[in-house]
Amino acid sequence: MTPRERELADRLIRDRRLRAEEYEELLAERDAETAEYLAAAAVAERKKYYGTKVFVRGLIEISNICKNDCLYCGIRRSNRNCERYRLSAEEILACADEGVRLGMRTVVLQGGEDPYYTDDVVCGIVRGIKEKHPDCAVTLSLGERSRESYRRLREAGADRYLLRHETADAEHYHMLHPAEMSYDNRMRCLRDLRELGYQTGCGFMVGSPHQTMRHLAEDLAFIESFRPEMCGIGPFVPHHETPFAGEPAGSVELTCFLLSVIRLICPRVLLPATTALGTMHPRGRELGILAGANVVMPNLSPVDVRKQYELYDNKICTGEESAQCIRCLSARIAEIGYEIVTDRGDYAAE
Ligand code: SAH
Repeated sequence: MTPRERELADRLIRDRRLRAEEYEELLAERDAETAEYLAAAAVAERKKYYGTKVFVRGLIEISNICKNDCLYCGIRRSNRNCERYRLSAEEILACADEGVRLGMRTVVLQGGEDPYYTDDVVCGIVRGIKEKHPDCAVTLSLGERSRESYRRLREAGADRYLLRHETADAEHYHMLHPAEMSYDNRMRCLRDLRELGYQTGCGFMVGSPHQTMRHLAEDLAFIESFRPEMCGIGPFVPHHETPFAGEPAGSVELTCFLLSVIRLICPRVLLPATTALGTMHPRGRELGILAGANVVMPNLSPVDVRKQYELYDNKICTGEESAQCIRCLSARIAEIGYEIVTDRGDYAAE
């Protein structure tokens, strides 16, 4: 760690912010010593609000049918070699029941942008889960919708919404998405979600094609100003049926470094150690927790469809039952001195 890196790290720790050029410098010049220094500070910050608790969110992948054509994603509409599925309301409710039975108090409904899930359909599902499990938080991750749609889903009882911004640089955004998708609409969605009272999550992939340190610095500056309650980041992992099939995967080391920085910018943020991180390294999720993450998202989807929700190649945990996933994760978390907790794990009060 050079004296300059030390100065930037200390200022980040103290002020919870840096200028965009300084984030870029911090990232570009980082070494193992800086990473360790920031991880120690991140873990100390997290401890003030959450101790050694790691929150569990049961992930239900409701559909791999998608009208979008994001260049990085394995379930993009152009992928003709993807066997499509969607879960019925009954199947989704059964997965939620199973999650609650296993001790989870948050379920996340994630899927492609599948037109089948109209507001009426999703509102029915959210109400169904809430009626049966009033102490359970419902998180949605269903992509871009209208403000009116977000309003109705919120009214039906949805508590949180995850919508990664993907990149805070408009030009980079257009290198990752087809022409009909827009950076402005993605940002509009995030603002609407926030204003409608959702606990809101943004996020991005690390090492996505064409990404530079300057883009990552812009992501950090965006997070600093948006102040999300949740932030999902994970390495980009290529999928063989996409235009980015031949691109290199993102780095586990850089992802962990960014987890520490994000924890220092937003000390109370709910930060998952993602499945993509676990895919790129056998102990990826543990490394994420040790860098400052505090959420894990075991898979609750029916085992027979899990392989089909293939956003990227070699995704882990596609063969196990939900109960096995949670047991395996609990053991991994305990091993590193943390504890899985099953309460709702809301954003900590100041
Ligand atoms: N349709 C929803 C859910 C998307 S899937 C939405 O638009 O929000 C959740 C996240 O997976 C995406 O936001 C993206 O950041 C990530 N993802 C997609 N393809 C990926 C890949 N090849 N490697 C790593 N992460 C990927």
